[in-house]
Amino acid sequence: MFKKILIANRGEIALRIQRACRELGIKSVVVYSEADRDAKYVKLADEAVCIGPAASALSYLNMPAIISTAEVTDAEAIHPGYGFLSENADFAERVERSGFTFIGPTPECIRQMGDKVLAKQAMIKSGVPCVPGGEGALGEDPRETVRTARTIGYPVIIKAAGGGGGRGMRVVHTEAALLHAVQTTRAEAGAAFGNPSVYMEKFLQNPRHIEIQVLADQHRNAVWLGDRDCSMQRRHQKIIEEAPAPGIPRRVIERIGERCAAACKKIGYRGAGTFEFLYENGEFFFIEMNTRIQVEHPVTELVTGIDIVQMQIRVAAMEKLPFTQRQIECRGHSIECRINAEDPYKFTPSPGRITTWHPPGGPGVRVDSHVYANYFVPPNYDSMIGKIIVHGDTREQALARMRIALSETVIEGISTNIPLHRELMVDAKFIEGGTSIHYLEGWMSEHKR
Ligand code: ADP
Repeated sequence: MFKKILIANRGEIALRIQRACRELGIKSVVVYSEADRDAKYVKLADEAVCIGPAASALSYLNMPAIISTAEVTDAEAIHPGYGFLSENADFAERVERSGFTFIGPTPECIRQMGDKVLAKQAMIKSGVPCVPGGEGALGEDPRETVRTARTIGYPVIIKAAGGGGGRGMRVVHTEAALLHAVQTTRAEAGAAFGNPSVYMEKFLQNPRHIEIQVLADQHRNAVWLGDRDCSMQRRHQKIIEEAPAPGIPRRVIERIGERCAAACKKIGYRGAGTFEFLYENGEFFFIEMNTRIQVEHPVTELVTGIDIVQMQIRVAAMEKLPFTQRQIECRGHSIECRINAEDPYKFTPSPGRITTWHPPGGPGVRVDSHVYANYFVPPNYDSMIGKIIVHGDTREQALARMRIALSETVIEGISTNIPLHRELMVDAKFIEGGTSIHYLEGWMSEHKR
């Protein structure tokens, strides 16, 4: 096992990784920007090194600074967390070339899954169902593009092969709008992602977002750890996640889970990963794979009892998975609310000093957060300041526990989205379960928020 790991991230995930290291008896080095000097994980770290100013480009995205910090602190491995450099194949490559272990999949795997056209082709080969669409990237011939759209049937969606974070997509409802949309998406994709390649698929009208967590070691073993429902989103940003997805028959989930585990073996995957699907009319359609730990991993940890971050570290250290698929059992129900420093209804960021901080507690309640009273939320990064996660024997109990947890939580000095979460936890449709990815935005306009 490693003796020392460098954590190349910030915020709650930096603390989460640090806790995993501590339990495994591994020392942690954190790198931080000038804006994060006072964060909890910096104070708790065995070693902390300031690598630059607040701007991410000069700190958390600064590969040479991160790698040289690993060198001078004698770290053996680098955990990239989520966001920043976590899905950057060049970074993974540079880490490994410098003699460190990258806690994540191989650079080749990251590259392949980072190109959505290649990812989709690999999934089709592995027997994972994909959204109906053209084979590969769209060519230059406009007649071919028109033909492809006719075959798929309108509406279609044009997506950038290199897209991410909900950007680089355009829905097309009529043939008249098609070619212009392809051209614009191509130009935008070239500018934003450095890759002008685009592809076309069927636009699903009212799907749910369901994903499968996987874990693979370097000895050809791969398992899936159940499913998550992340349909509660605004502008493609998830705010509530739960496990398992309500109302989907277990055998349907099992069938897709098994395919994901089989695909991992086929593509030579290692570490933790997530297969994201749109789910409509009882069918799953692959949209993308995330080759990293995800924000919502705790709901899976609470239902399976498996520490996913520790497992990432253990398989990176060449350990075999300590369980087989048959030994994995999902028990009860878990819900996560992402707590953001923002106006609850306008979603404008609300950085600043937290004057009061009373997190919730009690049976089945977990809080993952790096903040505390008198902490200053910097304006430079993502607005998420923590996550409240609950577990119950049933979905009803988990909902009740989340309502209590939210009612106990007091955060003053900045605005947070807690009032929105409180309303959603008593919303009849959410309580019923199974709402689509458009539900929250519809709810917002209906409630004149
Ligand atoms: P990103 O990497 O930017 O998150 P995804 O491929 O995961 O891109 O898609 C993000 C979101 O866009 C999905 O969660 C869904 O809301 C919407 N979306 C993507 N593809 C489709 C599709 N074929 N039909 C309907 N919605 C889609």
